[in-house]
Amino acid sequence: MIDTLQRQRAAFLRDGTPDLARRRQHLATLRTAVLAYRTEVAAAISVDFGNRSRHETAIMELTGAIQSIDYLSRRLRRFMQPQRRHVSIFYRAGSAHVEYQPKGVIGIMAPWNYPLALTIIPLATALAAGNRAMIKPSELTPHTSDTIQRLLADCFEPDEVAVIQGGAEAGAAFSGLPFDHLLFTGSTAVGRKVMQAASEHLVPLTLELGGKSPAVIARGHVNRQNISSLVYGKLSNAGQTCVAPDYALVHESDLDNLISLYTSTVADFYPAGPTSVDYTSIISQRHFDRLTSLVEDAQRQGARVITAGVAPESAVLRARSFAPMLLVNVDEQMAVMQEEIFGPILPVRTYRTMGDVIGYINAGPRPLALYYFGTQDADCRALLDRTTSGNVGINNTLMHVAQDDLPFGGIGPSGMGAYHGIEGFRAMSHAKGVYVQGRWSFPRLLHAPFGKLAELAIR
Ligand code: NAD
Repeated sequence: MIDTLQRQRAAFLRDGTPDLARRRQHLATLRTAVLAYRTEVAAAISVDFGNRSRHETAIMELTGAIQSIDYLSRRLRRFMQPQRRHVSIFYRAGSAHVEYQPKGVIGIMAPWNYPLALTIIPLATALAAGNRAMIKPSELTPHTSDTIQRLLADCFEPDEVAVIQGGAEAGAAFSGLPFDHLLFTGSTAVGRKVMQAASEHLVPLTLELGGKSPAVIARGHVNRQNISSLVYGKLSNAGQTCVAPDYALVHESDLDNLISLYTSTVADFYPAGPTSVDYTSIISQRHFDRLTSLVEDAQRQGARVITAGVAPESAVLRARSFAPMLLVNVDEQMAVMQEEIFGPILPVRTYRTMGDVIGYINAGPRPLALYYFGTQDADCRALLDRTTSGNVGINNTLMHVAQDDLPFGGIGPSGMGAYHGIEGFRAMSHAKGVYVQGRWSFPRLLHAPFGKLAELAIR
């Protein structure tokens, strides 16, 4: 691993900063390769998950990756431009500007849930910023990791882009390498270890983590459109989405309506319930068992379980296909209200006032995303002003991630730093401040012997 890093760093020092044309060429090469491999990648993902429709992969991963490459390529000239900065009166003899310089070699660690998008988008950002990159994909998607490794080896030299495969041990070694920047996408627990490992060499970090993202539905706003969006966010990839609404907060008078609309919408989306072709399976037996025990634990403590999508009696259930469920009568003692669910289970808590909602959200760790369904009134404003989350979606779920020009990242336990938008380019660039002395020598008042003029500085 360290050899690859040393080779990439030597090549970076040898070749210098790539210009606009070279960076665009890298992005174009990546775009062509991703499109050429799209069918193979979608098939590999489906094998790794047990089932995931190629349409879901196209919509949730491929289009996002291509869109992000195109966005970066279009904006690159502007992003790379040095920025003039203000100089104060004493320094007017010169000028100041910021140059965005590539950092060097970027480490990228990816999770299994969107193995294509969460590899390609960080890589495109690293290349746009003029860097080289080493990628560590997840061991839980071995077929996809192999395919992505071939895809990248087809279009980049190993001293430009390299893939390192392996499990937790390889991840631990990878996160301890002296990269010029490390972008980690994964769980909060592993993020903590990665931050510790990176501290050894003081490697700058972007941490894209998880958490419990709430969906708040204002009183009277349980309707077909809002619940369709909730079901879409919760059940895409069977809930294995970092920004999926983890649980819902609904006004107590709307609970029955929510249960009935949620279950009927799930039936519309997935007519054969968990045996529907468009319904994704759970990545591993360990995660399947984890979800089962979350439901059993909640049930033991008095929660009501409502299975929202039911398979026809004749259907043969696929391995690791977990039925969509609603949990009502939940409380904070239950594990399902403490840990990130990352599956198709939606616990529903009721509230009386927006103050209750704000208090409940603020009592927990800051979430990656917050969703609000309702009118943009004083309650909505209060929710936005008085809670802190990575991003916010109003009257939709997930869509903030698809906006290339918006930053994407959590805060505190849900992450650190951001990418997408200009924020991604800047995270992977060094903002170098440069002051250029003009024709005139630097002001007399700054140096000894200090005279009357220096009095000005202490007035
Ligand atoms: P994970 O933390 O288990 O694994 C992520 C990566 O870390 C993998 O490549 C893995 O091999 C590696 N790894 C495992 N143990 C390690 C260790 N001890 N040291 C260093 N590296 C190690 O996460 P996951 O289960 O693959 O993904 C699910 C999590 O990722 C969820 O919490 C989800 O919310 C989060 N996620 C966040 C985003 C985001 O953009 N914020 C996107 C997708 C997923």
